[in-house]
Amino acid sequence: MLEKARELSIYTAYNINVDAIVYLKEEHIKKLVSEFGEDTIRKRMDEYPREVNEPLDFVARLILALKTGKPTAVPLVNEELHAWFDSRFEYDLERMGGQAGIISNLLASLDFRRVIVYSPILAEKQARMFVNKPNLIYPLVEDENLVFKHPSEAYREGDPIKINRIFEFRKGMKFKLGNELIEVPFSGRFILSSRFESIKIETRDDLRPFLPEIGENIDGAILSGYQGIKLRYSDGKDANYYLKRAKEDIMLLKRNRDVKVHLEFASIQNRELRKKVIYNLFPLVDSVGMDESEIAHVLNALGYSQLADRIFTYNRIEDTVLGGKILIDDMNLEVLQIHTIYYIMYITHKDNPLSEKELRSSLEIATTLAAARAKLGDIKTPEDFKAGLTVPYNERGEFVKLRFEEAKRRTREYKVVIIPTRLVKNPVSTVGLGDTISAGAFTSYLAMLKEKGKL
Ligand code: AMP
Repeated sequence: MLEKARELSIYTAYNINVDAIVYLKEEHIKKLVSEFGEDTIRKRMDEYPREVNEPLDFVARLILALKTGKPTAVPLVNEELHAWFDSRFEYDLERMGGQAGIISNLLASLDFRRVIVYSPILAEKQARMFVNKPNLIYPLVEDENLVFKHPSEAYREGDPIKINRIFEFRKGMKFKLGNELIEVPFSGRFILSSRFESIKIETRDDLRPFLPEIGENIDGAILSGYQGIKLRYSDGKDANYYLKRAKEDIMLLKRNRDVKVHLEFASIQNRELRKKVIYNLFPLVDSVGMDESEIAHVLNALGYSQLADRIFTYNRIEDTVLGGKILIDDMNLEVLQIHTIYYIMYITHKDNPLSEKELRSSLEIATTLAAARAKLGDIKTPEDFKAGLTVPYNERGEFVKLRFEEAKRRTREYKVVIIPTRLVKNPVSTVGLGDTISAGAFTSYLAMLKEKGKL
């Protein structure tokens, strides 16, 4: 089915950034703990800062992430902290980041027919991080016409660059916080994302009138980056302004043809913004993807706080399935995809054109792609997919699947399918795995719809 998916043309927007990666060592943490002191750090951990305004906020959230081993993303809102980070850490690697950036490079490397990537900012350094393939193109307006160029020929002098710092941590790392010995339970990453005014999530005015034309010529769109919207801007604009534009973008893409749109939902720390993104955008898209921590946050924002708390506390699959059903019903989604460390799930309405078997095979492609990326660090050619096939399915996922089969009898009005993930023991990198899963799932889903004449 990946062969079929490769025949598709996909549009992806909005977020592209440079990921500056640090492979965290025990030494880094020890230094931070002795610099700030146990008591001060613990106090800030209890306060649970939702954004990083000063170094201690970072240290507190980092240690919380290390304790739980959960992938975490927290916005950096104070532009003056760059120097502090640069003096404490050396970056091991700089690579393409941002969902649109990661997904476009992935699909282009897999030889998709056409991958149109759009971000309102495109600096030269950023543009050079795109894979050098002719199927990867960026839309521009020249002499009032829509033209496409490789990003390396489309960048704008003077555009800002967004740098996200990513701290990759390994399972088994140990350090002491006072008398407590902390051992990191899972490999993962802590993303410190830059949130500055100059970086907007929108389609520039010159390109917007051409979105219907783009929509006509693609098989699907993958949109993400809404977590980068700010509640307020110094020019008086606010999140409502950018969300209204974001809604219009989706409607413009769909104007001439009901092109399928997938929204990749990433962590939004601010509850108000999270709620706005859900209410404004979910009803307009066909497909949504998210990871396990998000489903609880989303349910919480929609007012299902008891169910959300249950998912946070017990992490039971029955609750996740229930939450997923609520979400596809309330938002009238065609398909919801949830990925967790041990399993991936689709929830659709009963009348979905694909059979459960087909839905499952779409998830198989998704986890195999992610496993290939985890194992190789990157996917550079279609052949790399095969590396994922040698990664075994995790056993805990099998167990979850069994429990799920028992629970499933009660789901008549929906199709719910679940597969265990192929889990790489020592991943080269865990950045972008969720995006890889969602891109693999959505495009193979589209390919199957197309084969059935339903696209
Ligand atoms: P996200 O948190 O959205 O980046 O998604 C991470 C997803 O990547 C998890 O839900 C897993 O399904 C997958 N994943 C994480 N670690 C590994 C690994 N070591 N090998 C393969 N897949 C992984």
